[in-house]
Amino acid sequence: MAVCKKCGRELTQDEVAITKRLVSRAATEFLCVDCLADYFRCKKSVILDRIHYYKEMGCTLFSSN
Ligand SMILES: [Zn+2]
Repeated sequence: MAVCKKCGRELTQDEVAITKRLVSRAATEFLCVDCLADYFRCKKSVILDRIHYYKEMGCTLFSSN
């Protein structure tokens, strides 16, 4: 299982997927939602909204539930 590059926390499939979406499709290192929010200097809710948005679009990188 992937872990967050910054804080070392174990990542969910959604966190791996949103890193690919927001940082790079070819990313091999991933960030958790908290560290992504920090990286983009935005609120955590913004990242969670993006995850929701991509799921709604049916992006296959994300878990379906
Ligand atoms: Zn982290």
